[in-house]
Formats: sequence, C-alpha cells, structure tokens
Amino acid sequence: MGVAKPEHRIHPEVSQFLAKPRKLLIGGQWVEAASGKTFPVFDPATGEVLTHVAEGDKEDIDRAVRAARRAFESGPWRRMTPSERGRLIWKLADLIEEHLEEFAELETLDTGKPITAARAADVPLAIDLFRYMAGWATKIEGNTIPLSVPYTPGAEYFAYTVREPVGVVGQIIPWNFPLLLAAWKLGPALATGCTSVLKPAEQTPLTALRLGELILEVGFPEGVVNIVPGYGETAGAALAAHPGVDKVAFTGSTEVGKLIVQAAAGNLKKVSLELGGKSPNVVFKDADLDVAIQGAANAIFFNTGQVCCAGSRLYVERAIFDRVVEGVAEHAKKLKVGPGLDPSTEMGPLVSEEQLNRVCGYLASGFAEGAKAVVGGNRWGDKGYFIEPTILVDTRPNMKIVQEEIFGPVVTAMSFEEMDELIPAANDTIYGLAAAVWTRDLSKAHRVAAQLRAGTVWINCYNIFDAALPFGGYKQSGWGREMGHDVLELYTEVKAVCARL
Ligand code: NAP
Ligand code: MG
Repeated sequence: MGVAKPEHRIHPEVSQFLAKPRKLLIGGQWVEAASGKTFPVFDPATGEVLTHVAEGDKEDIDRAVRAARRAFESGPWRRMTPSERGRLIWKLADLIEEHLEEFAELETLDTGKPITAARAADVPLAIDLFRYMAGWATKIEGNTIPLSVPYTPGAEYFAYTVREPVGVVGQIIPWNFPLLLAAWKLGPALATGCTSVLKPAEQTPLTALRLGELILEVGFPEGVVNIVPGYGETAGAALAAHPGVDKVAFTGSTEVGKLIVQAAAGNLKKVSLELGGKSPNVVFKDADLDVAIQGAANAIFFNTGQVCCAGSRLYVERAIFDRVVEGVAEHAKKLKVGPGLDPSTEMGPLVSEEQLNRVCGYLASGFAEGAKAVVGGNRWGDKGYFIEPTILVDTRPNMKIVQEEIFGPVVTAMSFEEMDELIPAANDTIYGLAAAVWTRDLSKAHRVAAQLRAGTVWINCYNIFDAALPFGGYKQSGWGREMGHDVLELYTEVKAVCARL
C-alpha cells in the first residue's frame, strides 16, 4: 500500500460552510434545535472536529412534520403543475452541478471517501437522479378501466385510477453515500408531489444541509423539504413513529430496519426499506480473469467496503482459486490508502471510530475461528480510522465473517467445484441485495442470474448504478425498489374512481 499525502487546498465555499454551526431546515427557515443542543461532525481522516450541527430531537421532528403537513395540505406546492414541479427538480440538479466541486469536497471531508470517487460518482449520480426524477413528474399516470359489474345488469360505468402523492414522508439515511442517498429519497418524493422530513446520519449531515440551502435557492415552497440532523435513537425514532407521517423510507442496517417497522405500526404508515447485504460475487474459470480480478477487488474495496451491495463473499471456481485470490491480493497491496482529499488516494478511512472497532472486531472473530488473511487484517496507521484492505481464506460457511455484514474492506474468498454446490452456498444468507457473475459463457451467466435470490445481479461488471435501474433487496435486504419507475409506487397511492353514467 502506498501512502497518500494530504496536499489539497479546501475550496473557500467549503471553509465558509464549515466556519459556523449549521442549523436545521424547518418550514423554509434555518433554526436552532429546540433544546439548543449541537453535536460535533468529525473528519474521519484525522479524527478532528469539522464543525457543529444543531441536534434535532423529538420536538424538532414534530415541528418539521407539521411544516411538511402544512406544505402538503395547503401550500402552493399542491397547486403547482407537474411541469412546474419537474422544472424545480431540474433546476436543483443544475445548481448541484454548478457546485459539484464544493459538494465533492464536503462529502470527502465528512465521510473520508476519495475526492476522485465523490467527483466521479457520488455527486454526478445525485445530479442524474434529480434529472431522471424531474422527467417523471409529468408522467405519473393512472388507467381507465372497463367494468363488468355482475349485480347491476345494464348499468354503465366510467372508471379510472389516479396516482396521488402518499403525503408527508419521513426519510432516514446512513453515512456511506450521504448526498446520493438524500437524492434517492428526495427525488421521487418531489416528483410525486409529496413533502419530506429528511434525517441524515449523525456522522455525515453536511451535504444534506448544503443541499437544503440549494433547495431554498431553487424556490421550492417552504416546508416541502425539511432537514433535521440528529441521532437515530432520538430524532430517527421520533420520525419513524410520528402519527403525522404517512410513509417512512429508510436506508440503513437490517437491525434498525426492524425497529422502523415496529415504530411504523402505530399509525400503519407505509414503509420502504433499503437494508444490508452480504453479496456473493462468483468467478467462473472461463471468465476474462484480468477483468474479473480487478472487478472483484473494486467490488469490495470501493468506498472502503462501506457499500450495502459490496461483493463481500467471493466464490471462485476451484481451478482458478489461487490465481484469483493472488490477483485480488496484488490489487489490495497496490491500493493507495490515505486521506480522501489527496487526489491520489484510492481508499480512504472508515467513517468513524465505532466503525473501525466494528470491523476490527469481525477480523478478530474470524481469526479466532481459524480464518487466515492472505493480505491485510490490521488497522492501518495510528491516526484516523484507516484499515488495511483484507482477503480472508480458510473460512467455513457458518462463521460470523461469512454470514454477517462487516461493512469494511474485508472479503471472504471461497472455492467451489459444481453448480449444485455454488447456488445454495451463494444463497445461504439472510440477505438478498446484490450478486455478480463473471464468465464468458452468456447462457451460463443468465442461468446463474436467474437462480440467485438478489435484487440486482451484475454480469461481468460490479457496482453499476443508474437512476433508471431499480435497486433494492430480496429477503432481509429490504422492502420495495428505489430508482427507476418502480420507486414511484412507493411514493403514490392509487385511487380508483368509479362513476355510474
Ligand atoms: P444504521 O445504524 O441503521 O443507521 C441508518 C440511519 O438510521 C441513520 O440515520 C441512523 O441515525 C438512523 N437510526 C439509527 N437508529 C435508529 C432508530 N432506532 N430509529 C430510527 N432511525 C435510526 O446504519 P449505519 O450503520 O449507519 O449504515 C450502514 C448500514 O446501511 C449497512 O447495513 C448498509 O448495508 C446499509 N445500507 C443500505 C443501503 C441500501 O440501499 N440497501 C445503502 C446504504 C447503506 P444515526 O446515524 O444518527 O444514529
Ligand atoms: Mg449509525
């Protein structure tokens, strides 16, 4: 691993943004938390405090939900045409694009991710998502339905469906792709005419707050988007349980996803969930191995492995097992680890000390159960939350490191001989978010894709995202699909209207 040096100058707009404590966005105003409390936001590359943010709690969530309700029921938002809504969303995308460099830096400072990744992926994907959703605002349609009611002979009806916004939505997101996941949530809410209360993760509230400033600049009516950073156990829990919220959309761990479902039961609000994963990445011996090896390394090391769909279980056909493991290990050794702001950094730190301890705990458990590290296996350096990219072998299927989501740059590599052995092993998980297959045999690729129980299957590629491609999980990886036109179903109610003629 090479060592990257911090040599980047901070953008003046970013320094300005960090210079004073940030507030909550409620009803179109930047306000302090009702408690007056703030919490610190850390730079994961140094452990130093970047700035402070108002700490939203139950009372602030309640104020924000009321503002969102007012905006939904009686504000100008409701009277706007779909075309006007679409234009505002498009304008928001344009503004983010104008500030792309600033967003990339802020995201890098807050999460630790390489600036090159924030510039190339996080921010452009967020912009594209808003543009894609802007186009949908004018295309949310119902059907006309011919009726054949048996007990009113001779009667004629005219029946149709309309898709209406579900109402006030509570949206809770994690820290791994803060701006992008804010876009995944806000884009469809705005396109369908909902109003939102968004709670970013406590570790990474900054880009959502900057986005809030642009939302005001674009001219969305007050209360349409409210942004309330705070802790999950307080602000998040209050939002999930709030009786004034019609739907909650959550991205995060499966464990917290289950708490969201329970909290939502009080008023039976609609729930959509994007949860964890333990995705199988399958390499057959007829694959283009150079491409597959590079792909397998990126699948687990991208974003320091803090990716819900990371290729964390690598299944390699026995004949090429050693070659593939050595190849991925070579990639790991060459990866340039360092602070995200250094343009040569390829892998940044983990997001927090808590996450570092969690990943180190999994490594220790794997070693105690007999797994071996071909490469990595330790903390990297003594400052910040860095960890070595790691490949583990000599695992057994029931080990915690094979079953549980580590959410770090740690892959378990396993070999297989027969298809009959591979498919059950690949599907032997409580999760079903993503999977990948590497082979030159296209019919085999599609046969395997059909048998993998996962919401996304990549063939000869990995981590390919597009605003038009639905994403979400089978099994305990979640409920519903985000992106694509499928997400519109999560944000609309269907009303059937039936008239006797
Ligand atoms: P997490 O602990 O579940 O937190 C996610 C969000 O939920 C945060 O905003 C958190 O707030 C909040 N939260 C925590 N406890 C809560 C509660 N009792 N009620 C309401 N909200 C609560 O997840 P994480 O560890 O931060 O993020 C990593 C997880 O997200 C991984 O499991 C990953 O697979 C998953 N993920 C899934 C997707 C997907 O699309 N499927 C995408 C990205 C990440 P605080 O952070 O302020 O505590
Ligand atoms: Mg958390």
